[in-house]
Amino acid sequence: MSATLINGKNLAEQIKNNLAQQIAALQTPPQLDIVLVGHDDASEIYVRNKIKAAEHINLKTVLHRFDENITENELSAMVEKLNADKNVNGIIVQLPLPPHIDTHRIINLIEPKKDVDGFHPYNTGLLQNNQVPYFIAATPLGVMRLIQTVCPNLSGKNVVIIGASLIVGRPLATLLLNQECTVTITHIHTKNIKELTQKADIVVAACGVANLVKADWIKSGAVLIDVGINRCNGKICGDIDFASVQDKAGAITPVPGGVGPMTIAMLLENTVNAYLLQNQKK
Ligand code: NAD
Repeated sequence: MSATLINGKNLAEQIKNNLAQQIAALQTPPQLDIVLVGHDDASEIYVRNKIKAAEHINLKTVLHRFDENITENELSAMVEKLNADKNVNGIIVQLPLPPHIDTHRIINLIEPKKDVDGFHPYNTGLLQNNQVPYFIAATPLGVMRLIQTVCPNLSGKNVVIIGASLIVGRPLATLLLNQECTVTITHIHTKNIKELTQKADIVVAACGVANLVKADWIKSGAVLIDVGINRCNGKICGDIDFASVQDKAGAITPVPGGVGPMTIAMLLENTVNAYLLQNQKK
């Protein structure tokens, strides 16, 4: 039997339509300011996609471009300026930053109530404490929404996450733990990941290794969420070998059309929530 397809594109469209209606009812559109340093190819694409999606729902974006030689102090001053600007509801500093800049220092300067990427330690700390942060990082938040479409009650589920990054694996593990899952976080140094995934009710692959997860890695009926974005023979593919697992899994997200569109929808949702928070409507 073929796995249920978890359609992130459709879910993201529904969310964006709701956001468009919410925005239409506001006095002014929410504003998202994006800081982009240098010319990283992937960052250029991500930023372009975010701006396009925002414009589609009448959410205002302002792009601040800087040469890759910008100093850490100049970038810090920019963040402080955006923090103080009442018109700015959400701030994103697109990562990665050039190596001469201390990324943590820059992220830690963002006002937590404008931290729509959810990377500031104030927000990640509250999440760790199982309290409600202002914002949760868009990709893990999107993954949770996708999982909940096929698995509304997560209590007691065994979940294996492949990948332990600060922006995906770690916050996702916390979100799942807060929903009473038993979570195993694996990474490049984990031995025999396959033995762990074979016992999992849910596997989330977020490691950036094309087609790593095959049918013999999973148990029958498992829910599979593929965060990976890789280039394979001129096409985009995920970390899960879709063709291999589709007859064994219970449900699976496609790549493209799964986690990617949800990440953008969650960022837009965070920005609308930032507006409401700053205007005391939430
Ligand atoms: P990262 O490089 O920061 O982290 C990768 C993690 O995977 C690390 O913890 C590393 O130890 C682990 N890893 C690497 N190779 C592994 C292996 N062979 N086995 C087990 N673990 C391994 O990456 P990231 O930023 O978290 O992104 C991961 C993937 O998700 C990438 O393909 C990225 O493009 C994609 N991504 C997609 C979205 C989206 O919206 N769809 C968002 C963010 C990241």
